[in-house]
Order: sequence, then C-alpha cells, then structure tokens
Amino acid sequence: MKIETLAVHAGNHGDLTTGAVVPPLILSTTFERAEDGSLVEGRDIYTRASNPNRRAVEEKLAALEGGSDAIAFASGQAATMSIFHTLGAGSHVILPDDIYYNTKVIIDNLYANFGLSCTEVDMTDLTAIKRAIKKNTKLIWIETPSNPSLKVTDIQAVVKIAKAKNIMVACDNTWATPFFTRPFDFGVDVVMHSTTKYFGGHSDILGGCVILPLDSQSELGTKIRTYQSVGGAVPSPFDCWLLNRSLSTYAVRMPVHGYNAMKLATFLEKQAQIEKVNYPGLKSNKYYKIAKKQMRDVNGIAGFGGMMSILVKGGENEALVLASKLNIFKHATSLGGVESLIEHRYSVEGPHSKSPENLLRISVGIENVADLIADFEQALK
Ligand SMILES: *Cc1c(COP(=O)(O)O)cnc(C)c1O
Repeated sequence: MKIETLAVHAGNHGDLTTGAVVPPLILSTTFERAEDGSLVEGRDIYTRASNPNRRAVEEKLAALEGGSDAIAFASGQAATMSIFHTLGAGSHVILPDDIYYNTKVIIDNLYANFGLSCTEVDMTDLTAIKRAIKKNTKLIWIETPSNPSLKVTDIQAVVKIAKAKNIMVACDNTWATPFFTRPFDFGVDVVMHSTTKYFGGHSDILGGCVILPLDSQSELGTKIRTYQSVGGAVPSPFDCWLLNRSLSTYAVRMPVHGYNAMKLATFLEKQAQIEKVNYPGLKSNKYYKIAKKQMRDVNGIAGFGGMMSILVKGGENEALVLASKLNIFKHATSLGGVESLIEHRYSVEGPHSKSPENLLRISVGIENVADLIADFEQALK
C-alpha cells in the first residue's frame, strides 16, 4: 500500500466491542486477567509495558517508514537515548558537525559517565568519516538534511563505509520524514524521529520513536523495547491517540510543506538583503544533486522538505530585526507544524552554538505560500 493509505489505515483494526471506526482512547493503566489469574490472550497487562493506543501508533509509524517495528517514546530525546543506551561502555560515536544540538548534549553530558565519546565530522565529507573511525567506533549518526545548515548526507555512501567496519548506522529522519527520504532504502540499521515535529504536525504533542528495518537483527530491537518498557520514558495513551490522529493527514500535509518551501526559497534567493538560502531544492545549492537522488516522495515526485535556513546580510542584529518584522511567521523554536515558524538558532543555542550569527531557521507551514511571500516582502522593505 502507498504512504497516503497507510497514514490513514495502518494500525487501525477497528473496535470489535463498539464498532467505532476511530480507535477509542484507552486510558486504563491496568487490564483485567482471567478468573484464575492467568493472562487473557491479546490483552495488555500494564500500560508502561504496552497499551492499545501505543501499539496502534507504533504499527502506523513502522508502516510509514517501511520498517518492521516502531518503538514509541515520550520525546525525540528519549528515543535518541534508547539508541545510545544500546552501545557498550567506552564506545565511540561519530556525529555530524551540524547536528540537532541536544543530541550531542546527551553524549557529552548524560553519557559521559559511561565513557561514551564522540567525534564530530562533516557528514558530507566521506574521507573525514573514514578518518574519524576508531577501534571502538560503534555508531555513525546521520541527520539529513542537517540542522540548521541543511547539508545533505549521502546515506548510501555512509552506510557502505560503516558496513565495511561493522559499525551501526542510525538516521535521525525527523526533518525529511519518509515522505521525502527513506533511510531504510539505503541500508541504515535504525531510524529515529522526534514525532513532535512533522509526524505530530500541529505543535501540540511531544514524542519520539525508533524504527527498525524489515531485516532487523532482533537483538537491537529487543534492547530498545526493554529500554522503553522498563526505562519508562513512554508516551501517554492520549499522546499516542493524538499522534495517530495527526498521522492520518501526514501524507497530505507533507507535499504542501515541500511546495511552499520551494516557492519561498526561490523568492528569498533573489532578495538583495539575503546573503544565502540553504535549501537543497535550489539548483544553486551545493547538495542539490545528492538531494535529487535521495530525497523524493514515494510516488516518484522529487521534493525537498519544508525546512530551510537563510543568512541575512549584516549580522545577528539584522537577522533578529527581520524575524521581528514578520507577522505570519511566529518567532519560536521547533518545526514541522502547520504554522510557519522562524528562529534565530545562535541566540537559542547559546555561546557554544556553531550556527552562524546571521542565520534564521525557517519551518515553512501549510498556509497559502503567496501570503508567506508577501509577509517577507513587507518585512524586507
Ligand atoms: C526536535 C528534534 C529532536 C528532539 O526531539 P524532542 O521531541 O524535542 O525531544 C531530535 N532531532 C531533531 C532533528 C529534532 O528536530
């Protein structure tokens, strides 16, 4: 089945008791056993371990990504933690130099006591990746397009390097989502998402997930499933129910994000006050070729996602002034919601930030793109 159909139907097995077409929300934390105390087949036991709403959304997430199993978490960060947690003490990880900021904070801060170390490399530089591999390298982490410079990593090429050394490859697919990039097609071992973003799509649920490929070695899946159910960083049934509902319209939201972003990037590229537009769909973009090869929706139409960043001529001040003049674009963090957002990453990330001081990150929403362009027109005047 195609992604649009899976987004509506996967994981929804109907409710035999009531005939409800929409899956009911089941808040109960505990489930009754048979009279003799034995487990009733197919019934859950305790909601941390498993519950109907989580199981339904996990089935949908796995189907959308083309995986065998999805494991849902209370946030993207908890999902990332679960992958790092499978690495033995003293492991070395290779991370992109342009990575979601808090992923690196997990290694530097939370896993320092476990002796986890990392090397940051430009993931678009294959020689740099090879050079960074050590005897104890256990994981290469890919995030493409990257945050916030929209660098596009050649997933297949990185997987080839990693496989030769028996190193696991994880891909944070939060930005592209399977609508635009399908990491399992290129051989990655595990995909991670912050479902807070495009999957949730309405900026009103926090969540994350880890998805395993069809041919996954069950050992990794078992470790992560245990981390979920015993570690307990689980999403509530209501969050799962909401996410499932949001995912029903996922496949119609994504092409609009992609269409609007392409139009806006093309407009912004022509403006004198803008030094540079980072959007892989622009022919002038350094990563256009690899993006065209790797980023496409499942129906074969090339698309480059809804995220971009711009460098404003001048510096931090000019960038902040531009952001403040916009009316439709809300000045706020996060991304992937129906509403357009703009953010100055440098001031959010603090003094350790590697983001250029004149960079604004834009999450293009599903409003009418003529209104979005008009908003920039008036702000640039
Ligand atoms: C937001 C985000 C995360 C973290 O997810 P949370 O749901 O905020 O914990 C990880 N990676 C990327 C690329 C993100 O955008």
